[in-house]
Parts: sequence; structure tokens; C-alpha cells
Amino acid sequence: MSELLKVKGIGEKSLKYLNTIGINTIEDLINYYPYKYTVSKIDEVTTFEDGKSYTLHAIIDSYPTLRRFNAKMNSLTFRVGSNKKVFKVIIFNRAYLKQNLKLGMDITITGKWSANNNTFVASDIKLEKIPSGRIDSYYHLTSGLSNTMLKKYIFNALNMNIDIEDRVPEYLNKKYKFIDKNKALKYIHNPISARELKMAKLKLIYEEFFEFMFKISYLKKVNKSKKEGYIRQIDKEKVNEFIRSLPFELTSDQVKAVNDIYEDLSGNIRMNRMLEGDVGSGKTVVSVIASYINNLSGYQTALMAPTEILAMQHYNTVKSLLFNTNIRVGLLLGSFTKKEKEVIQEEIKLGKYDLVIGTHALISEAVEFKNLGLVITDEQHRFGVNQRASLKNKGLLPDTLYMSATPIPRTYALTLYGDMDISYIKTKPAGRKEIKTIIKSEKEITDVLSLMKNELDNNHQIYVVSPLIEESDTLDLTTVNELKTKMSVAFNNKVKIGILHGKLSKADKEKVMDSFVKGETQILISTTVIEVGVDVKNATMMVIYDAERFGLATLHQLRGRIGRNSFDSTCILIGSNKNKRLQVMTESNDGFYITEKDFEMRGEGDLFGVKQSGDMSFKIASLKEDYKILLQAKEDVKDFISSKDYLNYESYNKFIESIRSID
Ligand code: ADP
Ligand code: MG
Repeated sequence: MSELLKVKGIGEKSLKYLNTIGINTIEDLINYYPYKYTVSKIDEVTTFEDGKSYTLHAIIDSYPTLRRFNAKMNSLTFRVGSNKKVFKVIIFNRAYLKQNLKLGMDITITGKWSANNNTFVASDIKLEKIPSGRIDSYYHLTSGLSNTMLKKYIFNALNMNIDIEDRVPEYLNKKYKFIDKNKALKYIHNPISARELKMAKLKLIYEEFFEFMFKISYLKKVNKSKKEGYIRQIDKEKVNEFIRSLPFELTSDQVKAVNDIYEDLSGNIRMNRMLEGDVGSGKTVVSVIASYINNLSGYQTALMAPTEILAMQHYNTVKSLLFNTNIRVGLLLGSFTKKEKEVIQEEIKLGKYDLVIGTHALISEAVEFKNLGLVITDEQHRFGVNQRASLKNKGLLPDTLYMSATPIPRTYALTLYGDMDISYIKTKPAGRKEIKTIIKSEKEITDVLSLMKNELDNNHQIYVVSPLIEESDTLDLTTVNELKTKMSVAFNNKVKIGILHGKLSKADKEKVMDSFVKGETQILISTTVIEVGVDVKNATMMVIYDAERFGLATLHQLRGRIGRNSFDSTCILIGSNKNKRLQVMTESNDGFYITEKDFEMRGEGDLFGVKQSGDMSFKIASLKEDYKILLQAKEDVKDFISSKDYLNYESYNKFIESIRSID
């Protein structure tokens, strides 16, 4: 039974809604912070100006009259008294309010004065006298769950007096005069004044950074104590020969990255390198060369990807790139049967594979390597601190290479990855065309279908990112199946359409992906599982439904699935052309530009891929806005670690334990 059901007001139904927005425990619930606050300001007006907006206290002075213009349009009209004036109020499409508006009732109205009609045109009516200065909090919701409901659940949970650990050490709470954790949580959800809200934010931001910096710093400490790496004798000519055998010439940035890695691997200090390059810049081949170098010196390589689909694809790509070598490539996925896993694990242990590709299964299962020399983590931002740590510690002293398409601005990168070396791939392989991005509204679907038809007529393939949300436990495939039917009909049943989502079995995923790669299916309807890494060159169009629900980083990653060839590619975002994020997408294909915009618009935004990432998504802190606090927390963590004060905290001990257990 979910512990959430113990919270007053939460039943099976609301539990489901809460789960969809990632709330699975009471702790998740109370840490689900509002994304915005409004402060009500009440106007006291003596003379109205035409077209100006006001928020007023008023008393209802007449019964409301309801008029229905048509099925969709209605109005309520009534008289009010406000600040010694009597006037008419009209509000559209709130027929349901009629029974609640009682004579003599105190209400708060927001709207504009229309001098022409001598009427107050309300956009909002609150059925109470809202005090000036009241702060209201607003949460990201899902359909079925209202702001009021969620607020009530959080309020009830906070009143259960559960034990919540304050992760800021007592001496620092004193030093900075922070309020205590319980109070901070109460204020963050229900601030009574701006001052309390500010204090609550400060405390929680600091705490979040402090905990984050602790993990990073602790890991650095552990890693430092194992600084020496393997000493390798590498035949450079063999490496060059391999590079010449590749189907394309490396870009100059790729060559530089390969050289960095070569230097690291032939030196005697452990490699700890981040390979940064925008989507489609060609990081995979660099990692393959790295594993080739590693293999020349007789060691095994582990390559981790964040999703099974990506791991399977890497497996295929890597195998074909290594075709002319005698490197044996293995695949290990979480969805393999127990038996399959055992067989592969045994072979890894015996050294039957030189390069093993996998997902989390590579670390979460009891995988023992014969002689692991290099660990490569693709889409690094998708893995939590813990997971990175654990794989790192599998071998004795493996070198590590991280790959990420998240262009973190340099200052932040230095703070977060202070101990890492970074290689950048800035230029994309030659011959790539800019992807054209356009916004279409739901009403313009016929346009979208005809654009799709053009593309199909040219024998190209199309991704459709479905309106289906992946995280929910039970997938309701109706919308997707409807979409499939609609498209089949639109294209006279002449195209084959595949459906891909995270809940498919491994075999089914493979089948769906395979037939898209081979060009047997022309359209792939998918959830965001295709977000990272997937590489099908012949796909030249992507249609993203409900594009507004995604952050910029996700949209950029998704779009990166197309434009992988010299063909013209188009990305169609379905949503409102007034949406700022969607507009940014139409302006540029450059990940750095998009990240900068994301920073400008909303702090670091969902830069780190909020949905799946472990360590990099902050709940309340913003890398950009609160950078000074981050630096302070980083300083404070140093003392905290050297004094061993962390031993007094359950959460920090747990973290350390989790590293030790796989060490
Ligand atoms: P990402 O950096 O996003 O992981 P990939 O490694 O998937 O990018 O590479 C994107 C595509 O570019 C792949 O199809 C790959 O084969 C191709 N590619 C990589 N390097 C080059 C190059 N130097 N010249 C031409 N194509 C390249
Ligand atoms: Mg990649």
C-alpha cells in the first residue's frame, strides 16, 4: 500500500494522478514545490478609466442573469457595490458560477472597465474577500488534479508531523540564521508574507546545493584516492589505421578529442574526461575509438546508455564500426531474462567480451569484469551521481569517459565538474543542413499531414512524438492508436506505421526499431523514449504533438533525431506560435544558443532533463540565479567533509553506504 494513502484526502484515484507527476512518497509530496506565486493587490478606485485593469472587493447587489449565445458561449450579468459605487459586472463562460453568486456576498473581481457599456468586464471572480497582499501558490498539475486539491494534500501531509531530516548541519543553520526545515516547508507551500517566502526559499536552496555539493565532493575525494591509472603501451600506428578504416573522415574536433583521450590513456593518471558535443556532433565514433585504444592495451570496456533503445542502437552501430577488428561486442540489458543475463555475465567475467554495452543493468546487476579498463557513460546528464559512482568502481582503476550533449556554460561546468577534463566537439560533420522548424496549431493538422505526405513521397521517414505521456504506470494507448488510424487513413493505408514506447518488451522494442531502421515502417509514433541518441539517417521529419509540454532541452534532443544526412529536414511543433520556447526552437539549431535562451528564460530550466536525471535537476535552486549560494555551499561542504560531521546524518550515511557497497 502506498504510504500516500495515509495522507488525509488522498484516495486511490488521486494517488494515480499524483504518481503521474512523479509523486510516489510523502516526501515527494512535501517536496513538490509551487512553480509560481501571485500576490493579490486590491485597488480602491474612485473613477474608472476605460480599458484599464482592476482587482476590486465588491458586494453582490442583484441576482445574476444568465444568457446563452450558443453552445459554447454564455454570459453572467449582475450588479455590485464597490467602494461606494454601484455598477454592472459581466463575465463570460462561467455559467456554473450562477448558483454560487448570492445576494450580499463578498467577492473579489478582476477585470477591465468598459466605459462604452458602463460595465466591468470580469476575467476572474473569487467568491471571497481576498485580503490585499495574500500570496497564492501554484503547482504544475495533471488533468484530474486541481491546484486546490494538491494544496490540501500537501497541507495535510505537513500536518502529520513526520520526521523530516534537515540536511544543513546545525552550525551552518546558526551561522546563516536559516529557519528550520519544517517551517521552511510550511512557508514554501503557504507563505503568509513575502519575507517568509524568501526565508524559506533561501533555506531550501542552500540545502539542495549543500546536499548536491556533498555528493560531488565526496565522490571526488574517493576518486582522488585512486588516482593512478593503468599504464599502457599503445601502438599509435594501429589506432591511425583503425581511424582510416572508418567510413568517414573525422572532423577536426573529433580528431582533437581522440588525441586528448589517447594522451590520457597512455599516461599513468586515470582518465576522467567529459566529451561535450551538441546532438549529432558525432560523439559515438569517438567513444568507439577510445574503446579500440583500450582494447589494444588488453582491457575491457563498458559503455552505458540511459535507455534500452539507445543501448541496442549503440550495439549495432558499434559492431559495424568495429567490423574489421577482432573486438568482441556484448550487450546486457535489464530486460533480459534472468537466464540470459547469467550467461552474459559469466562471459563478461571470463573475458569473452572486449566491449560490453548496456543500460543500468551493467551496474545494478552483479556484473564482474575480467579486466575492466575503461568506462564510457553516454548522455551523462541522465545518470545520477550514485550510478556514475558505482560503475566507476567496478573495475580496479578504470579510466572514465563521459559524453554529454548538454552544453553547460563554462563557469557552471567548472564548478560542477571541477576535477574533470573536458573535450568539446563544436563543429558538426560537413554537409549537414539546418533543420527547418515550424509551429502548427492543432487546427492545422491537415497542413501537417500534407507536409508529411510530401516527405513520404520522397521515400523519407518520419518520427511522430505522440501525445502520450510515458511516465504513467499504466499506458493508455487509445490516443496513440487513434493517431495511427488517423494517419493510416490520411495516407490511404499505404504506409506502415510503428508504435514505440518504454513499456514494450525488449523483443518488441527491437522489432519496432529494427523495422524503422530498415525502412520497412515509414512512420514511427513514439513517446520520448527516442529522445536521446537514436540515429536513423533517412528520417527527415519529426512531428511533435503537445510540444508545449516539453522543455527546451528535451525539444532540442528530440529534434536532433533528424537532420542526420544531407537531406532537408523539417521539425513540426504542434502547439501555440505564441509560446516562447517553441519560438526559440524555430530560431536556431544550435544547442548552445538554446541553452543560453533557456537560462535567460527560466534559470537553468530543464537543462538537465528533469524527467529521468538523478543529480542535475534541482527542485528549487537555480544554477543561474543562485550561483553565489552554490559557491558558498561548496565552500561549506569542504569543512563538513573534513570534520566528518556527515556521520551524524542519516541521508549522508546512506549515500556513502551506497558507494561503499559497490566499491
Ligand atoms: P551524437 O554526438 O549526438 O551522439 P552520433 O555519434 O550519433 O552523434 O553521430 C551522428 C551521426 O553522424 C551518425 O550517423 C554518425 O555516423 C555520423 N558521423 C559522425 N562523425 C562523422 C564524420 N566525421 N563525418 C560524417 N558523419 C559522421
Ligand atoms: Mg549520442
